Amino acid sequence: MSRPMVQRPVGAAIALRDDALANALLEEWLGERRQPCSLFLDVDGTLLDIAESPDAVHVPRELCVALESLHRRLDGALALVSGRPVDSLDRLFAPLRLPSCGSHGAHWRVHAGEPLRHEAERPLPAPVRQRLQALARAHPGVLVEDKGSSVALHYRQVPDAGPPLASALRELLGEPAGAGLRLLPGKMVYEVIAHSSDKAQAIRRYLDAPPFAGRRPLFIGDDVTDEPALAMMPALGGLALSVGHLLPGASASFADAASVRAALDRAARRTSR
Ligand SMILES: [Mg+2]
Repeated sequence: MSRPMVQRPVGAAIALRDDALANALLEEWLGERRQPCSLFLDVDGTLLDIAESPDAVHVPRELCVALESLHRRLDGALALVSGRPVDSLDRLFAPLRLPSCGSHGAHWRVHAGEPLRHEAERPLPAPVRQRLQALARAHPGVLVEDKGSSVALHYRQVPDAGPPLASALRELLGEPAGAGLRLLPGKMVYEVIAHSSDKAQAIRRYLDAPPFAGRRPLFIGDDVTDEPALAMMPALGGLALSVGHLLPGASASFADAASVRAALDRAARRTSR
């Protein structure tokens, strides 16, 4: 397909035009039956509005209906690709269970009904976990999300804690206790990770197996942690769309998560006829 020229967003008018372009590209790719696509969706900030804490997000009923319909329409080739563990995704979207990968690709399922598969995960070492807990206590309002092989520190409620947290975490990872660990910055969150997966690897894994294999990948994401996956889409003959602003590799960006939900809802209604 020919891809429209993308203008850099330098103002509200251009941002609106970029949103229209993202909508048009999504519609075109999901409606193309001769070259069906695999749809990969980040969750927080892409499908759901970001809330004060990870547990406070709202999942609109219409979104579940649209995702279920598109999952069927794409013959199962729709997956959630999230930094959350999959059991958290399952709770949020219940009773809907989709192909999902969690904790930035550390565990996943290819089909909706199958058990999770795990990368050889090692838990975050106990001394590091304790240091992170202490760091959170030193900055009241910082929320700790323990995912086993990673711990996320959310500072949305205390934005001023961001810079001191960053320098303390970099220091920790430079010590022997932090050897082999990675620091993953996100929107108002820092995550210390003991595994090597990222969302790009996770999506490549899906593309090796049916029903995802042989389809053009389409990924929508909004954050720094989505950038490797967004950036690899063009080389795979795929399409990357970002949310909020144009990220590297993305052909266009949706204005916000509400715009993504509306676009998916329209696509689901069209394809369910
Ligand atoms: Mg996100």
